[in-house]
Amino acid sequence: MLEGMKTILIRNGSVATAQGMSKADLLVEGEKIARIAENIPVSQLPKGSEVVDASELIVLPGLIDAHTHYHLVSRGTVTADSFAEGSLLAAFGGVTTVIDFSDHDKGKPLVDSALARIDAMKAGMAIDFALHQGVYGMHERIADELAVLARSGITTIKIFTTYKNVGYLIEMDGLRELFAACKRYKVMVSVHCEDDALIERTNEAHRGTYTPADHALLRPSEAESRAIASVGSLAREVGIPLYVVHLSSAKGLEAVRKLREQGGHLVVETTPHYLLLDDSRLAGSDGPLYVMTPPLRKQDDNRELQEALLAGEIQVVATDHCSFTREQKLASRDCRTIFPGIPGTEELFPLMHTLAISSKRMSFGQLVDLLSTAPAKAFGLYPRKGTLQVGSDADIVLFDPAFTWRLDSRTIHSGAHYTPYEGFDVTGKVVRTYRRGELLVCDGVYHGRSGSGHFIKAGKPGPYEGTS
Ligand SMILES: [Zn+2]
Repeated sequence: MLEGMKTILIRNGSVATAQGMSKADLLVEGEKIARIAENIPVSQLPKGSEVVDASELIVLPGLIDAHTHYHLVSRGTVTADSFAEGSLLAAFGGVTTVIDFSDHDKGKPLVDSALARIDAMKAGMAIDFALHQGVYGMHERIADELAVLARSGITTIKIFTTYKNVGYLIEMDGLRELFAACKRYKVMVSVHCEDDALIERTNEAHRGTYTPADHALLRPSEAESRAIASVGSLAREVGIPLYVVHLSSAKGLEAVRKLREQGGHLVVETTPHYLLLDDSRLAGSDGPLYVMTPPLRKQDDNRELQEALLAGEIQVVATDHCSFTREQKLASRDCRTIFPGIPGTEELFPLMHTLAISSKRMSFGQLVDLLSTAPAKAFGLYPRKGTLQVGSDADIVLFDPAFTWRLDSRTIHSGAHYTPYEGFDVTGKVVRTYRRGELLVCDGVYHGRSGSGHFIKAGKPGPYEGTS
């Protein structure tokens, strides 16, 4: 044991990983997990070690929110949760790593966009972070840029199949080239699936109002399924895995199933809002608070996605946290100008734990997999992140699985000052959050420090394992 290194013994907890749960003691040395054993005697510890009693608590790896937009500058404004606020609310939710996004500045090499985003995040973040790099256009040097990007620890790109009007869409020929380059450098492609042509046609045919509820009509689930089918087929032809972000609809799910039957390799993400909220939310006076893209769907879609989640057809639940204040959201009632996006990182764990319990069909290990292990593997962060094992980062959450509470604007910490899950009764609460051995949250008090979060270089994404 190294002299002067801080040691923490977490005793008597139920230690949970994706494989299951068992009573064990867990020893942290500095930033790493040093030992996990049935009994680690206090007498063996160096003087000054901290001992934490975790009886009645579950000890699990820090969660990874694989889809966040903290401090997003968009449409002449900025989101409510910047890097400091995002880190704080995440830590309260047991999230110790987020994977955020860097926009593609087409005037620069991809890595320059990424490094600028990393620098900005480093200054404010108190939890760790990795990055997905947006690619919104093709040119002949993209393959070289992807190689540099991957060497710099950014091994996932994000593409859109819509937003042609703002220059985000890459046409099929370009995508084929891009996918081939991704295959060469083992870069994961994550994709926002909505068919642009169908959305354009729907908009042209639309007569009448542009209320929040109309947003759902203007971006139908058929657009999601078409985009999944076309981009998914292309990925299968080229021979790359594909990560589908925020699957929102039963129709989209059908397209996923069809592709898998045809041999496509898809990793599918959904979010709590597509599992738990439906488009009836858009009707009330608070309708704008629930506008995001893709839009909320029907109750049937909620149910289908929940079933698919329980059946293992969906691998990752992340949040697409993109928060605006009530004032920002309610500044417009026109769905074309309402700032799209909602908060969610902090609510992720209690909501999903509650869903797991009420379903009676999801073990705690499966929950850990969905929220931590699977995203760590998909994005090349495993086993440094996403599990509790000797040598992994000491990202550890102590969780009280029996505590019941209500989500509302006073019990959560987003700068949005509202939660889309207002009034939801949930079971389970984070008691402590450690990030690399540093205590970030303890009994409702935040101890995180801006600038202490590290950029985590991603390695080869898991779905490429076994390919040379
Ligand atoms: Zn997003």
